Amino acid sequence: RALISFLIALAFTVAFWYRKQSQGSTRANIKKGIKNKEFIPFYQPVINSQSNEIVGVEVLMRWRQFNGDLIPPNQFIPFAESAGLIVDMTYSMLNVMVDEMEITGQQVSPLFISINIVPEHLEDDKLYQYIKSLKESGKLGKHRVSLEITERQPITDLVKAREMLDNFYSIGVDLKLDDAGMGYGGFSYVQKLGISTLKIDKAFIDTIGVKDNFNEKTLDAIISFAKKSGLSVIAEGVETESQVNYLSQQGVDLIQGYFFSKPLDSKTFFTTYHNS
Ligand code: C2E
Ligand code: CA
Ligand code: CA
Ligand code: CA
Repeated sequence: RALISFLIALAFTVAFWYRKQSQGSTRANIKKGIKNKEFIPFYQPVINSQSNEIVGVEVLMRWRQFNGDLIPPNQFIPFAESAGLIVDMTYSMLNVMVDEMEITGQQVSPLFISINIVPEHLEDDKLYQYIKSLKESGKLGKHRVSLEITERQPITDLVKAREMLDNFYSIGVDLKLDDAGMGYGGFSYVQKLGISTLKIDKAFIDTIGVKDNFNEKTLDAIISFAKKSGLSVIAEGVETESQVNYLSQQGVDLIQGYFFSKPLDSKTFFTTYHNS
């Protein structure tokens, strides 16, 4: 029996050690990736379905490794967020974005550029100063910056976050609530943080047209809540024409999803949406 206990303990120790080692190397790889500008932006258009015109774009991070492999965010962002690396990765990606915008971005009609942030970005004024100086430098041309936040990670100091956000609002940067309806906050952030827009998660869009689906009623409730509260709505993960039609009947015109476009690399994005 003692031997068995010993072997179990040993197994746990080895497993723990192994996990720490591999996380350690993930951390090191990410740090190296930041230095080498491996975290690059992809761009997914947001379309007004009434006019068929592009109104904005969401910047989505990809990890392009030295061997050319492109790693999607679900494989590294959760770790990066919990390991305190996401803030530096965001700046690194934004620097790449600014270079791309400076070269080709000016030939695209004025858009909002949505950036995904985490509560940590609101703990000091670094991001605010960064975006303010970007605006002042003219490198983003006529494009506006927009921030997206989820209710996934709680904000510990809401008052401080709001103070920081008011700085952003004073320079024309707005805040969108990402994955709206998925959080357990029950939209508590909307008032407290001064949210301008709800981005409705794909999980709700997927239920459109599905009979007796509870979530379709939730979708309708979110839309009517937004209308009553004077919020804009963007539907995310829209893949079919019948979803677009349903949404426009409900007064939701801003659409993001594979129906219009997948996230695109910068070259493809800027050539496709170039003003001729
Ligand atoms: P998100 O912010 O909710 O972004 C929307 C995700 O839905 C993107 O996945 C996008 O490619 C995907 N999507 C859009 N339309 C469709 C569709 O019609 N069908 C399907 N099946 N998918 C669609 P992606 O790019 O893989 O990003 C996943 C998540 O990773 C994001 O979800 C976001 O939470 C996180 N993420 C991405 N970039 C960043 C970043 O720069 N910073 C932070 N903190 N998180 C990021
Ligand atoms: Ca987002
Ligand atoms: Ca989302
Ligand atoms: Ca999502």
